[in-house]
Amino acid sequence: MSTQFETKAIREQLERSQYMEHSTPLYLTSSFVFEDDEDMRASFAEEKKRNIYSRFTNPNSEEFVNKICVLEEAEAGVAFASGMGAVFSTFAALLNSGDHIVSARSVFGSTHSMFTKFLPKWNIETTYFDVSQPETIEACIRPETKLIYAETPTNPGVDLLDLEQLSQIAKKHHLILVIDNCFATPYLQQPIQFGADLVIHSATKLIDGQGRVLGGVTVGRKDLIREIFLFARNTGPALSPFNAWVLSKSLETLAVRLDRHCDSALALAQFLEAHPQVNWVKYPFLPSHPQYEIAKKQMRKGGNIISFEIKGGIESGRVFLNAIQMCSLSANLGDSRTIITHPASTTHSKLQEEDRLSVGITDGMIRLSVGLEHPDDIQNDVANALEQL
Ligand SMILES: *Cc1c(COP(=O)(O)O)cnc(C)c1O
Repeated sequence: MSTQFETKAIREQLERSQYMEHSTPLYLTSSFVFEDDEDMRASFAEEKKRNIYSRFTNPNSEEFVNKICVLEEAEAGVAFASGMGAVFSTFAALLNSGDHIVSARSVFGSTHSMFTKFLPKWNIETTYFDVSQPETIEACIRPETKLIYAETPTNPGVDLLDLEQLSQIAKKHHLILVIDNCFATPYLQQPIQFGADLVIHSATKLIDGQGRVLGGVTVGRKDLIREIFLFARNTGPALSPFNAWVLSKSLETLAVRLDRHCDSALALAQFLEAHPQVNWVKYPFLPSHPQYEIAKKQMRKGGNIISFEIKGGIESGRVFLNAIQMCSLSANLGDSRTIITHPASTTHSKLQEEDRLSVGITDGMIRLSVGLEHPDDIQNDVANALEQL
């Protein structure tokens, strides 16, 4: 068998049923039957690997997890109903009351809320480091620290963290390194190769890639995945078979989609960088990106998210958004449809200005999730809106 990424994403599949179907069918069943009492006993005792109840495992989620494991080069994994289901279950399964987390300051909004509003209820505290100052990470570590958490590239600032450096710090202090790899997908970046212990995805984004279903997955070290699986199987954040089926099919086209996403994004980033109404552009594969060397080291291509600042602050941001005709104004990302957001007036408007600036969200900052429309049409829409400023 070939070992290339594209081939694995297509050919990793469940065993065919008696019907010899070519494409994996959808297994819409909440439970599975046993041959006899001994079969049932052995299944519950986990002496044999088989499906019992779809809250635990289901063939469709098994195929999806197997594919992600193969693509991330992970030992094992668990699928979830959403990315946040994966994030929360991972923390809830691995941490005890009194444990401490070191996390990058700029993480996905709901992950940040989990750190600030919910984990403290169980006496789990988080200390944040700035992604622009990775040299401060070690100073955040305490005797109770159990885990380092980060996203790279970050949302919405498109900053990068050096995965190799993070893993060296984690290993030195015997901490679990968890990376949310949502913005890169396994096609662009495989954190386990750089030493991460666990990788989390919101499959809702580029893995589905067509804005249809929610899903999440955590993959990595077998011993840790076992804990996460036991938590998930008893608490119920299971991925639905239908969503798993959609996501498993989506992975078959991940590489071709990502190539187009990334090529269009790089061209648009270059266009924006030369535009007189734009102050700065951040895109990992632009040589002007402050961590361009890290991007080249750990990513295959630059991804589909661009952040840039237009001249004129908050008011300009509003004018720009209102002048957009084709691209969608939406809070999602990683869709076949290009999506534009103005974080300062929308997703991050409730933050104090100081907090917003500390994660790189300036008043005129725009986040673009470049889709799969013809790149000229995306660029024309953005160019026309810039003309209105
Ligand atoms: C969207 C997102 C999540 C949460 O995923 P859901 O599927 O919406 O629950 C987590 N991390 C990152 C980086 C995301 O973009």
